[in-house]
Amino acid sequence: MKIFIEVALPINIKETFTYSCLKSLAPKIGQRVIVDFNYRIQTGIIIGLSQKSTYDEDKIKGIHEIVDEKPLINKELLTFAEWISKYYHCPIGLVFKAMLPAGINVNTIQKIVLKKSETKDKDFLKVIKYLEKNGNASSIEELKHSKISPLYKNLLEMEEQGLIEIERHYKRKIQKKVVNCIKLISNSSDETLSPKQEDLFQFLQEQSEPIFMADISKKFSYSIINKLKEKNLIDIYKQEIHPDIFSDIMKHEPLTFELTEEQTEVLEKLEVRIDEHSFQAFLLHGVTSSGKTEVYIRAMKKALSYGKTAIILIPEISLTPQTVERFYSHFGDIIAVLHSKLSDRERLHYWNLLKNGEKKIAIGPRSALFAPLENLGLIIVDEEHENTYKQHERPPLYNARDMAVLRGKLNDAVVLLGTATPYIESYFNTQNEKYSLLKMTRRVKNQILPKLTVVDMREEEDHTEIFSKLLRTKIEDRLNKKEQILLFQNRRGYASYVQCVKCGYVLQCKDCNISMTYHSRDKKIKCHYCGYERSMPRKCPECGGYIFNFGSPGTEKIEQNLQFLFPTARIARMDTDTTTKKNSFQNIFDQVHNGYIDILLGTQMIIKGLDFPNITLVGIVSADVNLNLPDFRASERNFQHIIQVAGRAGRSEKEGEVIVQTYNPKHYSIQYAQRQNFPGFYEHELDLRRELHYPPFTKLVRILFLLNNEERLRSYMDGIRYKISQYPQKNKLIILSPTPAPISKIRKQYRYHILIKAEHQPNINRFIEWFQSNVKIPNYIKMQIDIDPISLL
Ligand code: ADP
Ligand code: ZN
Repeated sequence: MKIFIEVALPINIKETFTYSCLKSLAPKIGQRVIVDFNYRIQTGIIIGLSQKSTYDEDKIKGIHEIVDEKPLINKELLTFAEWISKYYHCPIGLVFKAMLPAGINVNTIQKIVLKKSETKDKDFLKVIKYLEKNGNASSIEELKHSKISPLYKNLLEMEEQGLIEIERHYKRKIQKKVVNCIKLISNSSDETLSPKQEDLFQFLQEQSEPIFMADISKKFSYSIINKLKEKNLIDIYKQEIHPDIFSDIMKHEPLTFELTEEQTEVLEKLEVRIDEHSFQAFLLHGVTSSGKTEVYIRAMKKALSYGKTAIILIPEISLTPQTVERFYSHFGDIIAVLHSKLSDRERLHYWNLLKNGEKKIAIGPRSALFAPLENLGLIIVDEEHENTYKQHERPPLYNARDMAVLRGKLNDAVVLLGTATPYIESYFNTQNEKYSLLKMTRRVKNQILPKLTVVDMREEEDHTEIFSKLLRTKIEDRLNKKEQILLFQNRRGYASYVQCVKCGYVLQCKDCNISMTYHSRDKKIKCHYCGYERSMPRKCPECGGYIFNFGSPGTEKIEQNLQFLFPTARIARMDTDTTTKKNSFQNIFDQVHNGYIDILLGTQMIIKGLDFPNITLVGIVSADVNLNLPDFRASERNFQHIIQVAGRAGRSEKEGEVIVQTYNPKHYSIQYAQRQNFPGFYEHELDLRRELHYPPFTKLVRILFLLNNEERLRSYMDGIRYKISQYPQKNKLIILSPTPAPISKIRKQYRYHILIKAEHQPNINRFIEWFQSNVKIPNYIKMQIDIDPISLL
C-alpha cells in the first residue's frame, strides 16, 4: 500500500512536492526523506501525508529512503517555519535549512552498476563503456569525469530501461567520534608481572574513568598495554566522546544581590505572565547598567521552576566569556552556548542535547531562536535594537527579534526585549499596546549617567587635527589621574578613501562600486565589502599623479595620532583588524581590566558588554560617520551609538564624562543624545518617519536584483518597470520604480532595487504574490525579497 507525502526541499522554489512511499515505512511529518528531484538527489522534510493525491498517482515518484527514526522537526517548529515562510515569502524548505544545524545533513553516495549493455543511444554507450572499463561499477563522482551531459538525466533513463542499477546510500556528514578507552577488570594479578607491566597496572589503578588510550600510550608502549590485556587485567573498549568547549569556563559561585526597587517592579510584572503561562511581549527600556541582565536571570529561574525552557538571544559580540560565565554561575550545565565559532560537530552536539531535553537554556546569536526546545516558557532578546538580529545574506531574511515575538505567541511564552536604546518600531509597539513597556531609569548603584559635552569641530582652530582641544586636555587629565579612557570611531583602517589631488579620482574596488580604505600598517588599500585588497599604488591609475589626499581618519590613523600626542600612554586598538586571532578580543579585554591599558580605542566592538569601573572618560571621535549614509535609519543608529558608548563611562563611584566631536552639533540625534533624552528623540524621529512614509507607519519591502552584466540588468529592469505599472491595485501601495541601489555593484554583481511601501501588510503580501506569479525572473538574475529590510544600501 502506498501513501503520499508532501516534501519541502532546500531549494529556492516556492512549491513543495508530492512523492509516494510504502505505508509500511510509516512516514511521519517532520522526518527527512531522500528523493530524486530534477535528476538530483535531495534531502527534504515531510510536511504532510495523505492517502490520495490530486495528481496522476502512477506518475508520482517514490522516495528512496526515510532518514530519521523520529521526526527532526516537531509540530511546534513546523508551525513556526510555516509562519516564517509566509511572512518572508521564502520557500519553507529554506526555512528548515536555516533552522537545522548544518552538521545534521547527510551525504548521499550513489553507485552505478551495469546490468545490460544492449542500447543504440550514443550517450548511454559512453556510460556503458566507462563502466565496463571500471569493472562494471562506478561511483557517480567518478562518472562525472566522463564528460557525459546531462549525466543525471541519462542515468535515470538508463535505470528506467534496466541498463543500469543505481545503488543509493547515505552517510551522516558528521560521524560520531569514538576513542579507545581502557577499563580495569581486575584489581590484583595472579600472574607475575614485569616491572614495566607492574608500573602500568599501578598507574591505571590510580586513574579515574574514563581512561583514554591516547593518554596512556604517551607513557607506556602498546606492547605493555597488550600484555595486560592478554592477562585479562584490562579491557579495551570504544567510547563516544563529545566536545566540551566550555570546559575552561570558570564556574564560580553566583553573585546574588538584593534587587533594586525598579528591578523588583519589573520582575513582578514579568512573573505574573510567567505564572499564568500566557503570551505577552515586553519591552524593557533600561538605561545602561540598570541591571537588565540580572532581571533576565531571575525571570529565567522563574520559568525553569515550572519545568519550562528558555532562549536568550545576545548579539554575537556580547557573547564574551564574562557574560557566559555569569549565566553559567547561575544555571550550570543546563545551558547550551551557541556562538558562531562552534564547529558543525559542536553545534550538532548541542542541538541534540537541546532536543532531548538535557539542556534547557539556549543562549546565542540570532539562529539560537531555532533551538529545538520543547515547552518554551521565556524568550529574551538582549540589545533588541541590534541590526545583527537580521539575517541579510540568504533567505529567509528574517529578523530574530520579530520572530522571537512570534515564537512566543505560538508557545504561550513570555517574550522580553531589552535595551537602553529601543528600536523605533519596538517602542512604537508599546504605544499601540502590542508590547507592554517596562522601565528602569536608574543605574543599579545609583551612579549618575555620564555628562555629555558636544564639541563643534567647525570652531576648532586647526582643522587638520583629529582631536579637539577639549578632548586632548581631558585625555591628558585622565592619564595624569591614572584613570582609563575609551575612544570610539566607527571606521577601521587608516583613511576612508584615497583621492588623487591632480585629477580627483578616488581609488575604487575592482569588483564593487565602493571606494577603497587605506590601511597603513601593511600599506594596502582594501575593500570593506568584498575583502579585495592590493598594495597602495604609487601613481594615480587615471592620470599618473603621485600626490594623494586621504579621507576621514579610521582607527589606525587615530591610534598613530594618539601615540604621537601621548607618547607614554599605553594604547590598545580593538577592531576587526586587531581581533582576527581566536583569543585576541579576550586578551585586550583582560589587559584593560587589569589596568595595563590607558586608552582603549575601537569600533562598534567596544560598545557592548564592557564593564570597566576605571573608565571615566569616553570620547566619540566623530559622531558624523553614521549620518553620512543614505539610509532612513542613520539618525537612529547615530543616537544609539552615542548613548551606548556613553554608557561605558562612570560605571563605578567615579563619575563619567563623554565628549562628542561633530561637524553637525545641531543635528537632533546628537542634541537628544546629549541630554540622554530617548522619548524626545523618539517623537522627533517619529514625525519624520510619518512625513516620509517610513516604518513604523508603513510596511517596507525591498526587492533586489543582481546580475554581473549592467546593460542586461538595466534593460531587464525596464521590462519590470512596465510590468509593475500594470499592477491592478497600485493605489494601495507606494512603489518606487527600479533604480540602481546606492551601492550599485558588489562582488562584480550590479544591483537594482524596487522599494514598496504600504500601510497594511496584506496589501504588501498581495503585491508580492502577484509579482511572483506574473513576472518571470530568468534564472540568470538573482532576486531577493527583503521584508522589513534593515539596510537599503
Ligand atoms: P545592564 O544589563 O542593564 O547593563 P547589568 O545587569 O549588567 O546591567 O548590571 C550592571 C552591574 O550591576 C553588574 O556588574 C551587575 O552584577 C550589578 N548589579 C545588577 N543588579 C544589581 C543589584 N540589584 N545590586 C547590586 N548590583 C547589581
Ligand atoms: Zn570590493
